[in-house]
Amino acid sequence: MISEKMVSYVQGSSAIRAMFEEGKRLSAIYGAENVYDFSLGNPNLPAPKEVKEAVYRILEEEDSVFVHGYMSNSGYEDVRGAVAESLNRRFGTAFHGENIVMTVGAAGGMNVIMKTLLNPGEEVVVFAPYFGEYRAYVTNYDGVLVTVPPNTEDFQPDLAEFEKRITPKTKAVIVNTPNNPTGVIYSEDTIKSLAALMRKKQQEYGTSIYLISDEPYRELAYDGKEAPYLTKYYENTIVGYSFSKSLSLPGERIGYLVLPDELDDSEDVRAAANVATRILGYVNAPSLFQRVIARCLEAQVDVEYYDRNRKTLYEGLKNVGLDCMKPQGAFYLFVKSPLEDEKEFCAAAKRHNILLVPGSSFDCPGYVRLAYCVSYEMICRSLPHFAELMKEIGG
Ligand code: PLP
Repeated sequence: MISEKMVSYVQGSSAIRAMFEEGKRLSAIYGAENVYDFSLGNPNLPAPKEVKEAVYRILEEEDSVFVHGYMSNSGYEDVRGAVAESLNRRFGTAFHGENIVMTVGAAGGMNVIMKTLLNPGEEVVVFAPYFGEYRAYVTNYDGVLVTVPPNTEDFQPDLAEFEKRITPKTKAVIVNTPNNPTGVIYSEDTIKSLAALMRKKQQEYGTSIYLISDEPYRELAYDGKEAPYLTKYYENTIVGYSFSKSLSLPGERIGYLVLPDELDDSEDVRAAANVATRILGYVNAPSLFQRVIARCLEAQVDVEYYDRNRKTLYEGLKNVGLDCMKPQGAFYLFVKSPLEDEKEFCAAAKRHNILLVPGSSFDCPGYVRLAYCVSYEMICRSLPHFAELMKEIGG
């Protein structure tokens, strides 16, 4: 009796659920310390101490009716102002509170913006490999997801293939940098070329094409690298941010959208996002955690910890003969499968109690993803098992 659309969503999500169940099953048989679960992008680091302090202080100092009450659907005005100021300080932008809509994490923000922009049949372009949930975020509103095939050389977007896929129906383009699943940061050159191409196509078709930057991993960048702030390169840019990873708060569901004045129809877009937040049933982003993040805008988790994991896992996998690119950000490694069918490789890994996600979940078969937001000790314990796995498959 469930809707036809939901039947396909349920089928699509069962692979990840199955993996989660598999981790629990293997832990019950072999003991949790003998299972090497690299499947989930769930941060393993504690939230910074500023978060706990903020929670206590808000509950002590602020008025309960205000802290737990309804507010504008777009969020508390002072919080939105504080977010805008922090962005201006960090990126030299000129946002004000009205440009910010507080959201229920990145996922909530993406749904609000798709609801705001899409008419049925309008197209949203994504670059493979991409976060698999994008398909649902777009089709929820009867949009059409258009995929640009991967550039497996360096996993920067393939702009020649992109150009071929922009049509008069293209309403938006989603980029995610630092990227899940590759860990790649799109270079400034890539961003400039992407922006020039989108500007050219807007002119050619007389349409507005919005660039949506989904960037929950912005602060997780290594070796001094930084992802360019995209509103500075393309006027029609919307930023979707989340504190799930930078403050290890995925369960609290808190993030924001930036809807700059420079957007085409900026006022209408902002008004519609405000209404979308309400009618999608979020009503508003969680009130306590809006107030918490306003006090923690400069805090972040211990990025050095992820960096040590990154280096250890990357070197370890290279040493056993796996072919992978050193990630520049996020907490994922994207590894070329030594077997043609990466699902077979995942199955072989499971026989060694190693859990990996097949690249086909990100529309990029032939690769597997490892999440290294896990304990350093687990990474060290896993490496001999990767060596055995490679021996078994003759790698
Ligand atoms: N976008 C990307 C690329 C992600 O990797 C994730 C979560 O892993 C999300 C969005 C959703 O994040 P949130 O928990 O803030 O909704």
